[in-house]
Amino acid sequence: MKVLVLGAGVVGVTSAWYLAKAGHEVTVIDRESSAGLETSFANGGQISASQPEPWANPGAPAKIIKWLGREDAPLLFRLRADRRQWSWGLRFLLECLPWRTRANTLSILRLAMYSRARLQALRRDTGIEYEHLEKGILQIHTDAREFESIDARVRMLLSHGLALSVRSLAEVVALEPALRDATIPIVGATYAADDETGDAYLFTDRLSGLAAREGVNFGYNVEIERLLTEGDAAKGVAVRVAGRREILTADSYLVAMGSYSPFLLSPIGINVPVYPVKGYSITAPIIGPSPNVCITDEAGKCGMTRLGDRLRMAGTAEVSGYDTSINEARCAAIADRVRKFLPNSADFGKLKKWAGLRPATPSNVPVIGRTRYSNLYLNTGHGTLGWTLACGSGSAIADLISGRAADVQFPFQ
Ligand SMILES: Cc1cc2nc3c(=O)[nH]c(=O)nc-3n(C[C@H](O)[C@H](O)[C@H](O)COP(=O)(O)OP(=O)(O)OC[C@H]3O[C@@H](n4cnc5c(N)ncnc54)[C@H](O)[C@@H]3O)c2cc1C
Repeated sequence: MKVLVLGAGVVGVTSAWYLAKAGHEVTVIDRESSAGLETSFANGGQISASQPEPWANPGAPAKIIKWLGREDAPLLFRLRADRRQWSWGLRFLLECLPWRTRANTLSILRLAMYSRARLQALRRDTGIEYEHLEKGILQIHTDAREFESIDARVRMLLSHGLALSVRSLAEVVALEPALRDATIPIVGATYAADDETGDAYLFTDRLSGLAAREGVNFGYNVEIERLLTEGDAAKGVAVRVAGRREILTADSYLVAMGSYSPFLLSPIGINVPVYPVKGYSITAPIIGPSPNVCITDEAGKCGMTRLGDRLRMAGTAEVSGYDTSINEARCAAIADRVRKFLPNSADFGKLKKWAGLRPATPSNVPVIGRTRYSNLYLNTGHGTLGWTLACGSGSAIADLISGRAADVQFPFQ
C-alpha cells in the first residue's frame, strides 16, 4: 500500500520507519529542508517512561493561579483572544479531575514503556547512534512535604512494571557525584534505572537516513496546504513546492504535523484538541563535573541531560500560541535553576538557546488512530513526551494502518 506521511518530526519519521518495515511504499513530506528541524530539534533528550503524569493533575490549577503573570513560572498561561486556546484551557481543567488524571497517567505509562522497548529493539536492529546513554533518570525533590508523599506514586508505577526506587540524598550523590556541589537542599529522589537519554534530532535525522535506505521517499521544502476528501475517504493532499501547487495522492494518509495538525484537520471536520505549549532548552559545553545520570528537578520542572560533551537543560511550559521567539527571562530562569544543582558543570557563557512548541492535548495523551475517513490516520499530540513515545506510537500506527491490532493497550481512535 502507498502511504503518505505528513510531517518529518520524530513522530512522522518513526512512523515511516515502521510502515516501511511492514512492507508499505512510504513517502514523507515536510516544509523544512530535512527531518527533525521543528519541535524535535532540541528537546530535553529524556526517554522518561518514569514521568507519565500529565501537567493536568489535581494540584495544577492552584499552581497555575499562583504562577500567573510570573515570567519565570514553570507553567504559564498567557491568555489571548484565541477561541482554541480557551477551549483547550477548559478541557485542561477537566483533565485535572483525579480520575481523569489517573486514566491519562496509565495510558501514557503503558505507551511509554512499550515505546522504550521498541526504541531499544530498533537500536539493537540498526546500531543507530544518537549520543544515547542508558544510565537512568533521577527525579530529585527539594520540597520535603512533596517528597514525603511520593510513596503512593512509586507504588502505582511499580505495580505497572516500571523499575523505580526511592533514594536518600546520600544515595543520590553516590549515584550521581556531580550533584555533590549542589547549593540547594535536595531532600531525596526517585530513580528510574531503565530510563534513557539521547539527542532526538540526531535520532530523527539518522533514522530518516536509514529509512531512505529501506526505500522511504522524503520530500522536503514541501508546504502542506489542504487535505482533499470525497465521501468517507481522503483523496489527496494539496501542497506547494517551489511556488507551484501540486496534488499528491496515496492509498492512506498519516498526519504527523505536531502542533500544526489542527490547521489541516479542522477544515475537513476533524477537531483534534492539540494546542502548542511552548518550552525552552539551553545547551552548553560541558567543562566540569557533569551528570551521566539524567536529572529532573521536580519543583522547577527542568531536565538536565548529558548529550555527548554538551549539557542540555530544558523545561518550562507557556500556553501562548504559535510564537517561537526566545524569551530571555525564561531561558535565564532555567540556567539559574540548573546552576543551583550543577554549579561547575557547563560553560553558561556559551549557551545555545532554543524554543519549541510541544503539540499538546489537554490530557497529554496523544491522538493515535484512524479518523472517520477510512484511509486517514493520525499520530499527533505527543506533548511533553513525544521523544519518549515516538517509537511506540510509530510502531502502533504502522500496525493499525496494516490492519493489525497494536500490541499495546492504549485508547486508540
Ligand atoms: C523544551 C522542550 C523539551 C522537551 N523535552 C522532551 C523530553 O525530554 N522527552 C520527550 O519525550 N519529549 C520532550 N519534548 C516533547 C517532544 O520534543 C515533542 O513531543 C516531539 O518533538 C513532537 O514531535 P512531532 O514529530 O509530533 O512534532 P515536530 O517535531 O514539530 O514535527 C512536525 C513536523 O511537521 C512539519 N509541518 C508542520 N506543518 C507543516 C506544513 N503545513 N507543511 C509541511 N510540513 C509541516 C514540521 O516542519 C515538522 O517537521 C520536549 C519539547 C520541548 C519543547
